[in-house]
Amino acid sequence: MSHTDKRIVVIGAGIVGIATAALLSEQGHAVTVIDCSGIAEETSKGNAAALAFSDIMPLASPKILLKAPRWLLDPLGPLSIRPSYLPRLAPWLWQFWKASQPGRLRTSIAAQTALMRLAETEMMALVERAGIGAMVRHDGSLELYESETEFNATAHGWKQRELAGIGFEHVRGGRLAELQPGLSPRFVAGTFVPGWKTVSEPQHFARALWTHAERHGAVFHKAEVRTLERSETGPAVRLTDGTAHEADRIVVCAGAWSTRLINPLTRLRIPLDTERGYNTTLPPGAFDLKRQLIFGNHGFVVTPLETGLRVGGAVELGGLDLPPNYARSKSMLAKAAEFLPGLKTSDGVEWMGFRPSMPDSLPVIGALPEDPSVLLAFGNGHLGLTQSAAMGRLITDLVGGRTPAIDIAACRPDRF
Ligand SMILES: Cc1cc2nc3c(=O)[nH]c(=O)nc-3n(C[C@H](O)[C@H](O)[C@H](O)COP(=O)(O)OP(=O)(O)OC[C@H]3O[C@@H](n4cnc5c(N)ncnc54)[C@H](O)[C@@H]3O)c2cc1C
Repeated sequence: MSHTDKRIVVIGAGIVGIATAALLSEQGHAVTVIDCSGIAEETSKGNAAALAFSDIMPLASPKILLKAPRWLLDPLGPLSIRPSYLPRLAPWLWQFWKASQPGRLRTSIAAQTALMRLAETEMMALVERAGIGAMVRHDGSLELYESETEFNATAHGWKQRELAGIGFEHVRGGRLAELQPGLSPRFVAGTFVPGWKTVSEPQHFARALWTHAERHGAVFHKAEVRTLERSETGPAVRLTDGTAHEADRIVVCAGAWSTRLINPLTRLRIPLDTERGYNTTLPPGAFDLKRQLIFGNHGFVVTPLETGLRVGGAVELGGLDLPPNYARSKSMLAKAAEFLPGLKTSDGVEWMGFRPSMPDSLPVIGALPEDPSVLLAFGNGHLGLTQSAAMGRLITDLVGGRTPAIDIAACRPDRF
């Protein structure tokens, strides 16, 4: 360590904490990552594997507000709210509504576009340095529509992507069948996004990145952080076994649990909540899937993985403590069997994960106002895998005292 390198504790070994630890340790900092569950054992374990760099449209939009009432009527549909959680969710929903208003939406799209550009550059460079290029598939994605009305309703989103320089191709007939043979004839059109990528398996990918961080000296400590503290020399984390770890900087990458850790320290009430998502992973050979398929109107995707085929998505607003409702995984699997005739649906493994979600779909990046040595890096919602290396880059810039690679004003912790 040189005199400018720092002792850094990263809380959380999800993909955001791992990528952050990788970039910090590459810069020569002494990094300890603390997690109570393990390396990518929570949300980053079972996601849909997409490096969705073209996904610049925030969830909060007039389009979702129009669709939401119909979706909410279906208890196993793409969007649901656990009734007992509604009172606690009200502030998040209010902010979601505000974020969907035209001015705020424009700001969010601009910020998300810049973040995604950085995400692609940083992720592909990190993958290269880690020597794990073979874990990234470059097959693109195919979004599917069941009617002209559904296709036409996506026009605004595609226009925004065109303005952002994102390549895509609307497809029909033979081209559609070529991109994915064996689809149900109910799909009349699709959009192919060639730049979309997927990883071979999210947990394998996260662990491979962790191995890279370890090669640069990062250390893992399995423990639960109870509180953040301030000692005479700097910040510290107090673990549930009573021991303390002092550091020059603490980076909070605890996903959907992050505000539980920081709320006792700050006047900010960051509206982080969780969009719970569900899926089923089928064994290899369940279907000859050519690339990730997106059923936007049904809120789920199907992804080819090296370990099989993953069917899932959905948003359930129900907080961190209520038990899972795996009827959701089953419902999406039943729909997938209709959409992909011949899909073998047996022997699947069901899973639920907690997306760390902000109402405006932008993450939180920056220092805690009360203590600049505590940095926050969480809230990537549906896009944490995609944006993880960008989060790492921005935190590394802040730790090094450099101007961040992109303007992060829209991601400030105190923006609400
Ligand atoms: C169904 C589904 C599909 C998805 N698909 C995609 C996709 O295709 N592409 C994409 O980019 N994103 C996708 N996402 C989102 C993505 O998975 C998340 O944004 C990402 O995993 C969040 O990573 P994270 O590191 O912030 O959080 P996590 O992976 O949840 O990690 C947080 C870690 O903090 C630890 N922790 C919390 N509190 C403490 C404490 N007090 N002490 C110690 N440790 C603590 C936890 O144990 C956990 O390991 C999907 C999510 C779901 C649910």
